[in-house]
Amino acid sequence: MKNNRKLIYTVLASLAAIAIILIAIIFHSKNSPLAVVFLNVGQGDAILISNGSQQLLIDGGKDGKLLLEKMGKYIPFWDRNIEAIIVSHPDQDHIGGLVDVINAYNVNSILETKIQSESQTYKKLEEEIEKNKVEKIEAKKNVSIKFSNGAAAEILYPLETVANVNDKDTNSNSVLVKLTIGENEFLFTGDLTSEQENELLAKNIDIDADFLKVAHHGSKYATGNEFLDKVTPTDAIISVSKNNSYGHPNPEVLQRLTQHRANILRTDELGNIVYECMNNSSKCVLKGAN
Ligand SMILES: [Zn+2]
Repeated sequence: MKNNRKLIYTVLASLAAIAIILIAIIFHSKNSPLAVVFLNVGQGDAILISNGSQQLLIDGGKDGKLLLEKMGKYIPFWDRNIEAIIVSHPDQDHIGGLVDVINAYNVNSILETKIQSESQTYKKLEEEIEKNKVEKIEAKKNVSIKFSNGAAAEILYPLETVANVNDKDTNSNSVLVKLTIGENEFLFTGDLTSEQENELLAKNIDIDADFLKVAHHGSKYATGNEFLDKVTPTDAIISVSKNNSYGHPNPEVLQRLTQHRANILRTDELGNIVYECMNNSSKCVLKGAN
């Protein structure tokens, strides 16, 4: 009888302990900070968004080895899962590193438009997606990715299905993503063009954001005054390499950003640029760059 009672107490104590652990895990995941990391991948884009256990990667730079090395610093070594990848458009400097990511991690899904590229890099990427059974989702307006801590990444553009207009011009349909966490908004623009900016303005799409990933590495063919009037960013992040042959970022773009009172942060000067955000009214904190 005594033994039975002891057993019951032991079972009850164990159940209580399990319940406390589960509550702690749920509480932790709801309150875990979100890191938004603009990885310094040279001339290209790669942005990692992570709440510790869930990861979204927007673009993959041009070099897989470099990308894995940079990403590895922000993903726990035991986490071999990447929940989603968004491809802004299939240019080399945005997809070049993704084959290595798909091979190194278990990637659940990849979001792309129907724009295709003729490049070998693109073909290889599509093969690996197929081979690794990564779920393919068409990137277009109203598709969104939700994190357990309340953050959400929503696709604002393209507005509907887009396919190739001509093979050379893959920039003209860059996917536009808005990330919301608490009262903070990030706008990721890929290599958006001024033509697309005009369309967004004409259609009155809500592009207001606190943090703007400057389009096309600071090319002068984007980031116009009217666009900036609507976005009103406090911080403008430029993903670019030192001494690149394109002359990015363009001095006129830097001037426009300064005139709009945006702080300019550049990966070629700062390395990886890291923000930490909470799902509340506090502003994302720049955790420094390294
Ligand atoms: Zn680019």
